[in-house]
Amino acid sequence: MNPTLKKGGVGEFSRFASDNEPSAISNIAVNGIIGEFLEGAKGVPLGKVDLNSSYDIVVIGAGPAGSSAARAAAQRGAKVLLIDRRRHIGIPVQCAEFVPQWISRHAFFSSACVIQTVDKMVTHLPDGTSYEMKSPGFMLDRSLFDKELAASAVLSGGKISIETEAVNLSPEGLAVERGSKRELIHSKVFIGADGAHSSVARSAGQPPLKTILALQYEVVIPEPQNHVDVYFHKDYKGGYAWFFPKGRTANVGVGIIAQKMTLLSKRMDHFLDYLVGSRKLSSVEIVAKTGGSIPCEKPRRTVFDNILLAGDAAGHTHSITGAGVLNAVIAGEIAGKVAAEAIERGNLQHLQNYEVQCQEAFGKSLAYSALKREFLENNWNQPNIDFEGLIRKTWVGFKEYYEGRRKIELHPSFPRAEDPPL
Ligand SMILES: Cc1cc2nc3c(=O)[nH]c(=O)nc-3n(C[C@H](O)[C@H](O)[C@H](O)COP(=O)(O)OP(=O)(O)OC[C@H]3O[C@@H](n4cnc5c(N)ncnc54)[C@H](O)[C@@H]3O)c2cc1C
Repeated sequence: MNPTLKKGGVGEFSRFASDNEPSAISNIAVNGIIGEFLEGAKGVPLGKVDLNSSYDIVVIGAGPAGSSAARAAAQRGAKVLLIDRRRHIGIPVQCAEFVPQWISRHAFFSSACVIQTVDKMVTHLPDGTSYEMKSPGFMLDRSLFDKELAASAVLSGGKISIETEAVNLSPEGLAVERGSKRELIHSKVFIGADGAHSSVARSAGQPPLKTILALQYEVVIPEPQNHVDVYFHKDYKGGYAWFFPKGRTANVGVGIIAQKMTLLSKRMDHFLDYLVGSRKLSSVEIVAKTGGSIPCEKPRRTVFDNILLAGDAAGHTHSITGAGVLNAVIAGEIAGKVAAEAIERGNLQHLQNYEVQCQEAFGKSLAYSALKREFLENNWNQPNIDFEGLIRKTWVGFKEYYEGRRKIELHPSFPRAEDPPL
């Protein structure tokens, strides 16, 4: 095992759920399936959480943001319910599964979630040149990672209810559908961590997020490698293609602006042909397919009375790379902590600190990436554009990207860190 895997969150998780123990992960499966047949003490079937009970904090979405929020809030003693519409937490995976190694300082997961480590990123430009940058990261098993994060929330004292879909949030409460039943859940605070097409954000009056659309195949690779590859081409408008290794396979994908959606599978075929032509692949042998929307939005409001938005639901994804797992975990952690503090103090005004703390954690990086995206999209189709020069200025794999970062201001309409708490 790589020694770095023992640090931070990985080590902490293994203290209460070691790799070879039947950890809380199996409890989640029990809750969903076998639990239906087991009666609990008060007539509520075990694993069927009582939605009629009133909660301090209800978290909608058990992805990295939601589970981190639920864990952080439950650890502080709040009565927490985590819901997800999925039947299996973490499935289907809609991710290329590459995260920076320092995620283990924030997330609680076992080494089993790491398929392999990565040491650098190689960026390939259409003129045939390529550039290396140190980029220590993990290739995750996202489905296991998400399950372990949810397990960690439960082990911290939270309740979880799968196959529970939020349909509307109003002053009366959160309307959910569980099977054929529609129910209303009451809570002091709601955390919307329900992804890029968040129904909580919609209920809070937010317009849909601007997104990049991505298609990804997991393919068998002839040679293992310990770096990730990123490819630019004028046809991959506003996006890029990737080749992220996972031992004997790799996640191979293309992301482009939503307006070019109809061209996505053609672009994927083009990329696969290129990989075969350049002998990166000996043939195209696909073992899995996925895809999805990745927010690429300017920073926006994330606190609405007693509602917080976190992760993709809040547009916390990096507008240039599309990476969102680390920020989702960090935002979730902050949301859970601030919400629990607000409950403890009996003062929901305290929730305003959430936005300030998120800004401190990753606000500059997101605001800067949004500016770079604007520049990228405005110039992509300019006649006589030096395309390679444009990519150097707008891609994180080049030092030119970071020039000007110090000048970036936090979003003026948001409270600043030095402002007194409201
Ligand atoms: C193709 C692709 C590749 C990507 N690659 C990477 C990568 O390599 N690295 C990286 O860092 N990021 C990557 N991302 C982005 C990353 O996957 C997201 O940023 C991350 O998953 C955000 O976590 P989240 O918890 O905010 O949302 P999600 O992971 O989307 O979780 C949201 C959860 O909410 C649930 N939900 C949704 N609606 C409801 C509802 N109404 N009621 C109840 N539950 C609901 C969903 O079932 C889901 O479990 C990629 C995204 C895509 C689409």
